[in-house]
Amino acid sequence: MTKYDICIFGGGPAGSAMAKRLIEFGYSVVVIEKVPFPRPHVGISLSPGVEHWLKVLGVDVSVGVGVGAGVGMEKRLSPRSLVLWESNEVVEKEGGWHVDRGWFDQLLLNASGARVIFGNAYPIENIHGEWDVFIEQEQSFSARFLVVATGRRPLLKGRRRAILPVTVAAYARCSSSIETFIEAGESCWYWGGGGMGFVFADPGEVQRYNSVQAFFVDKMGRSQLMRKFLLKDSQLMRRSQLTKDVQLMRYSQLMKDVQLMRDFQLTRDIQLMKDSKLMNDVQLIRDSQLINSGHFGEVKMCTATAYVDESPVGKNFIKIGDAVFTMDPLSAQGVQKALKTAVQGAVVVNTILKGDAAAGIAFYENMVADEVSKHVKWTQQFYQSQNIYDSPFWEKRSKALFIEQDQVLKLSADDLLITNPAAIVEQIPVLGKELIQYEQGIRIPGHEAPFVYVNEKPVVEMVHLLDRRTAKEGIQLLGMDLIRWLVYNRVMMKADQ
Ligand SMILES: Cc1cc2nc3c(=O)[nH]c(=O)nc-3n(C[C@H](O)[C@H](O)[C@H](O)COP(=O)(O)OP(=O)(O)OC[C@H]3O[C@@H](n4cnc5c(N)ncnc54)[C@H](O)[C@@H]3O)c2cc1C
Repeated sequence: MTKYDICIFGGGPAGSAMAKRLIEFGYSVVVIEKVPFPRPHVGISLSPGVEHWLKVLGVDVSVGVGVGAGVGMEKRLSPRSLVLWESNEVVEKEGGWHVDRGWFDQLLLNASGARVIFGNAYPIENIHGEWDVFIEQEQSFSARFLVVATGRRPLLKGRRRAILPVTVAAYARCSSSIETFIEAGESCWYWGGGGMGFVFADPGEVQRYNSVQAFFVDKMGRSQLMRKFLLKDSQLMRRSQLTKDVQLMRYSQLMKDVQLMRDFQLTRDIQLMKDSKLMNDVQLIRDSQLINSGHFGEVKMCTATAYVDESPVGKNFIKIGDAVFTMDPLSAQGVQKALKTAVQGAVVVNTILKGDAAAGIAFYENMVADEVSKHVKWTQQFYQSQNIYDSPFWEKRSKALFIEQDQVLKLSADDLLITNPAAIVEQIPVLGKELIQYEQGIRIPGHEAPFVYVNEKPVVEMVHLLDRRTAKEGIQLLGMDLIRWLVYNRVMMKADQ
């Protein structure tokens, strides 16, 4: 029976990136993917950080710029320009890409160089602590180590803990070429662009409507940016002549005239308008009509809750990408995180198999905890800055906000610097190129993660060098930037502080 070093479940960005790295480290790798490729996937807006990880991986995606036609997209990969509704103001941001994920994920999987098997499979741990993999009920091969890269679908047992409030997404393809936007709504937020429209809300909010379609249409009808983009389209206005139609319906009492309704094909829209009790508001009716008049395809729903898996790594398995933790889609950093956990996770796997396994496991657990904590803080700050509606949706997402006060650093040349008395020096697992090793680091209360290197200089060595020297001497030895960093992060303090 064939035996592989590594079996990776899931051929999304995380699985492909992990496969590529492990093959480069000299392992035999097989990838199992449940769904035939190319397959559609949510998550088409890529943050600028993705470019860095693709460079690290040596994958060139520029071949996709401006060629081919993904479903509902003009280009497979195009530069991203975002219109954001921030604190009641519209701002524009550049950076990152929009991609056809079917194309992008296929490109990464091909670049991995791994053997790929498409189909239904499951792994069972054998008595040697390795994995027997069954495809369509037949035991097909075994593997020393298992990588779980199955996205939001769990593969192994393990508890998943929500890290932010439970959120659902309703989405549909959009036939209008709206610009890309993110907008805060009263009890939801919107994302539009790349041929798609999304509404993110509490599950309870959706239940207030008769159908997901009604929820989506009503919410989208209230999106100021969506209306702006659609109304801008004068061609559409001319075709629909909706203003006139709505006026006709409202004032001529022609609602019961089936023939007329058929002519205008408005049956569904009228029902929706009635359901939503929007009849009194002509402006809203017109907008809701615009949204509903064939611009959106079938509305789908999925969960968008951010969670963390509480057993991210063990002696014979690792979870990466969305399988280890998911982010609030608001950040549009899911793919970036998938690539990062894969690239760093590959070093962890190499360390578990060839080096100090405990160091590898400790490093990965610390890294996941640190990433989760940073993400929760970032998200809460963002939601708080958007909290212009004073509604429960925004309130609970910006709770427990932790913002470090920016410290004003005033140092005089003669100030005596001492090491923070609360600092603890300890052995920390540190990521190297191929292995994880323990090195001395320093932990400062109030900071989630310990400090090991700054600007490639070991922090503990700097602390020993600086202790009980004046600020002037410190600056001569290490330069102003490092002294500022050490004092700002409370590694060093003024003796009289
Ligand atoms: C509504 C929504 C919008 C989002 N928008 C963005 C965005 O704009 N930008 C962004 O960067 N991220 C976004 N994300 C997140 C992003 O989609 C994910 O973070 C990213 O796809 C994670 O990559 P992955 O490789 O871990 O998982 P996936 O891309 O989900 O890949 C997992 C793969 O595993 C396969 N699989 C599952 N189970 C099995 C099994 N048992 N056996 C074999 N194969 C299996 C699946 O078929 C899939 O191909 C969004 C998420 C949501 C929910």
